[in-house]
Amino acid sequence: MSTSLAEKVRPAGVACEEFDVLIIGAGISGIGSAYHLHTQCPDKSFVVLESKARFGGTWDTHTYPGVRSDSDLYTFGYRFKPWVGPPIATSQAIKAYLNDVIEENGLDSHIRYQTEISRCTWSSEENRWTVETRNADGTPGTTYRCNFLWMCSGYYDHKNPHLPDWPGMADFKGRLVHAQTWDKDLDYKGKNVVVIGSGATAATVIPAMADDAAHVTMLQRSPTYFFCYPNKSELADRLRLIGVDDETVHRVVRLEYLHNLKMLDRRSREEPEIVFDELKELIRQYAGEDFEFEPHFTPSYRPWQQRLAFIPDGDMFTKIREGKVSAVTDRIDHFTADGIKLESGDELKADVVIAATGFNLLMMGGIEFVVDGKPVDWSQTTTYRGMMFTGVPNLAWVFGYFRAAWTLRVDLVGDFVCRLLQHMADKGASKVEIAIPPALANEPKLPWIEDDNFNPGYLMRDLAKLPKRLGDRSEWRHNQNYWLEAEEIPATDLDGPEFRYN
Ligand SMILES: Cc1cc2nc3c(=O)[nH]c(=O)nc-3n(C[C@H](O)[C@H](O)[C@H](O)COP(=O)(O)OP(=O)(O)OC[C@H]3O[C@@H](n4cnc5c(N)ncnc54)[C@H](O)[C@@H]3O)c2cc1C
Repeated sequence: MSTSLAEKVRPAGVACEEFDVLIIGAGISGIGSAYHLHTQCPDKSFVVLESKARFGGTWDTHTYPGVRSDSDLYTFGYRFKPWVGPPIATSQAIKAYLNDVIEENGLDSHIRYQTEISRCTWSSEENRWTVETRNADGTPGTTYRCNFLWMCSGYYDHKNPHLPDWPGMADFKGRLVHAQTWDKDLDYKGKNVVVIGSGATAATVIPAMADDAAHVTMLQRSPTYFFCYPNKSELADRLRLIGVDDETVHRVVRLEYLHNLKMLDRRSREEPEIVFDELKELIRQYAGEDFEFEPHFTPSYRPWQQRLAFIPDGDMFTKIREGKVSAVTDRIDHFTADGIKLESGDELKADVVIAATGFNLLMMGGIEFVVDGKPVDWSQTTTYRGMMFTGVPNLAWVFGYFRAAWTLRVDLVGDFVCRLLQHMADKGASKVEIAIPPALANEPKLPWIEDDNFNPGYLMRDLAKLPKRLGDRSEWRHNQNYWLEAEEIPATDLDGPEFRYN
């Protein structure tokens, strides 16, 4: 009898377990995917493998003051689980929601924590993935075997945030903390705080620190668009008042948010100046009628080219009006003992500096992949809908939306993968692979996303590491258009020329 791959790679004494499907990651994607698999393919055995000690992913990693969503939870929540709180939610509320999904569906017994995947090896002889893991103490963990890998490992490195290497950082006598690796004992009471960055994280941490700090300065290289709005849904409140049940409220309010988002998306492209005027008007309601937008709040790109930072109840602008927060647009020249010297020659005095400078992209959780003896270089693969990849069989990746809520795609991909698994079972196939049909062989292989479509720093820095898209065909790219995909993905012909089974 030939030796299986798992027997070859498994260190002596390490256990091996076998499942139909392995889900990698217990963040909002992994929990949603587990729900879909559990409910749509009840005969499939599966576990969710998670390197952390807890579920939640992003919502477990980020612990800075005020941490909250910037999408409404009617769309950032799942299609199947009603959201009942205020639209913009704290990380505690999101974790409580995820906890309910786990408990209500008996998913806890399927999650294996403190299990970090180090290598996934596909064998076409066995039609199996062999998945090697590490325990929290670094020792080799259980080896797993499965037929299908469902990657829900997110898109960034949870351990190493993006922190530019500014000159003189070591000279700074105050505290420098990255928002992603927050120190819960950081004392900023009565101190001068500089927050570097102007995205959603900065816009969250700044108002949350403003009342305790002496002053908070937002230091940005360039301005961002902000969308200020009360953190409530009048429609949801009204429907609840007249006795409509939670499921219906969730469905209807979700449709309203999707409709509004679609209009905003379209109008941002067609009439960006008018949209900006409207965003300004909303800001004035919190910052005051005479609020000066130049030079710190007039972005050079069009609205929606980067994620619009939502400011619930305009809190950051209220703090600006109260004089507790100010903005500076400049570049860091170097750190000094007392703060930051800027390229303009000005100096910002600081006791505490918070780097809200974003993420490092991490493709597939940093896991080494090998297919039939050859290491996978993701940048050499081509993506089918940002979900599957040429040359990598029996694997799907959940990469959500940037402009719309990430989780909308968790539900769409969940339905797709479950349908694909069922289709394979019906055909008696153990392997599915994506291949570019001969008719498209001459289409150009282009970067994952075009930079005039969506261009946040973490994507642009590492675009070359990501798989390629094929021309501008919607099925051969991650096209960021929920409305198109909501029609196209469920209608996919699984016997189309791009799917190969055996
Ligand atoms: C502060 C903050 C706020 C955000 N707010 C929003 C928002 O409002 N709306 C929105 O759409 N998006 C938002 N995002 C983007 C957000 O990251 C995603 O929407 C979503 O939470 C990602 O979920 P995920 O489960 O795919 O990935 P993650 O949350 O990154 O979870 C991935 C999980 O996989 C695990 N994992 C990774 N690699 C391995 C491995 N090798 N072995 C085992 N386990 C592994 C990780 O430990 C982690 O638990 C926000 C991001 C941040 C940082």
